[in-house]
Amino acid sequence: MSADNLRDTQAELRKLYDELCGLGLSLDITRGKPAPDQLDLSNGLLALPGEGDYRDAGGTDTRNYGGIAGLKELREIFGELLGVDAADLIAFGNSSLQLMHDVTVAALLHGTPDSAEPWAKQGTVKFLCPAPGYDRHFAITESFGIEMITVPMNPDGPDVAAIAELTANDPSIKGLWVVPTYSNPTGVTFSEEVTRALLEVPAADDFRIYWDNAYAVHTLVEAPPAPHPVLEWAAQAGHPNRVYVLGSTSKITFAGGGVAFFGASADNLAWFSKHLGISTIGPDKVNQLRHVRFFGDADGVRAHMARHRELLTPKFTLVLDILDDRLGDAKVADWSRPEGGYFINLDVLDGAAKRTIELAGNAGIALTAAGSTYPYKQDPRDRNIRLAPTFPGIDDLRTAMEGVATCVLLAATETLLTAHSD
Ligand code: PMP
Repeated sequence: MSADNLRDTQAELRKLYDELCGLGLSLDITRGKPAPDQLDLSNGLLALPGEGDYRDAGGTDTRNYGGIAGLKELREIFGELLGVDAADLIAFGNSSLQLMHDVTVAALLHGTPDSAEPWAKQGTVKFLCPAPGYDRHFAITESFGIEMITVPMNPDGPDVAAIAELTANDPSIKGLWVVPTYSNPTGVTFSEEVTRALLEVPAADDFRIYWDNAYAVHTLVEAPPAPHPVLEWAAQAGHPNRVYVLGSTSKITFAGGGVAFFGASADNLAWFSKHLGISTIGPDKVNQLRHVRFFGDADGVRAHMARHRELLTPKFTLVLDILDDRLGDAKVADWSRPEGGYFINLDVLDGAAKRTIELAGNAGIALTAAGSTYPYKQDPRDRNIRLAPTFPGIDDLRTAMEGVATCVLLAATETLLTAHSD
């Protein structure tokens, strides 16, 4: 487009944008939260396990203290879904993020079973962060002063060659954050080849992969991919202690009242359970029993996820339709077409993400803060925007996304006109 054409287009978009601001909106598509109708799917939990039902299959009284590993029946259900033997999995607390935090604290203060010294005594500690990635992962490492190194994401997982080059030469690299299924925010699912290669890279003995399988069963298509049995593959690769598998029912049942899971080798489990056992006498087994009763088995979870899918598919379809319709011809943005998970990844023109988010914010549409998907909130190309379509109702989502499309286009004209004048 010539500068004159661009200026004309911009004037039209300005008018649209002024109308948008006139609507006095207050909409929020920032966080991947389940919507109330999704939470309603699990209301049956509120009446479970029910009066008089408090013993698990082994006869344990779930009301009492103890049982740090969590209920075996629940570990069997979620072990199958996460690709981990029940014996290698613990069910603990309501937040996998907290487990990621606590296992990091234990390594910093006590060292892992493979650390010569606690991480905190080893000087600089670094983590690799495939980006765009999950902002709350980055918040954990940033809060401990762990140095974060960005590595690129490819369509089949993180760039393993870049990772191997770094880990082979730097023993202070102790961790790698990954979301292997329907990744937050890119929607990428890791291939077997990438996964096996990650398990093989030369690295410090106490290097750990945080295999955060938060979206293992959260599919928007017929069925999710079979989970990679990473603990088994890690052992085959000669690094049995390299992987921590994480997951939770946060986006399956109640985001604030679910159950979290941690899977690892026997050595890692014994080590982490010992530290968890200092902080508590045991998990909430009544909540675990309630989840066992609610699902019955892994197929019960799959059937439940099909109901989530029915509620979520129209929202994802709507967002993609609006993006196709409004931005398809303009060639100023790319976006993902996820088969699962909670996000659509939108890349706008280089240098235009902050401005797009600012324009949307001023029109009353809250988008995830610029840069959030990168370590230290620094998106090197200022182009990535994470869209979270799940929480708003369909009408609000439509209004918000039409507004976002206008903001993307308006910001693009500004960026392009600046380039013309340079
Ligand atoms: N991991 C990822 C990748 C997530 O997207 C989320 C939720 N947004 C979580 C973990 C949080 O899980 P939990 O509720 O189990 O702490």
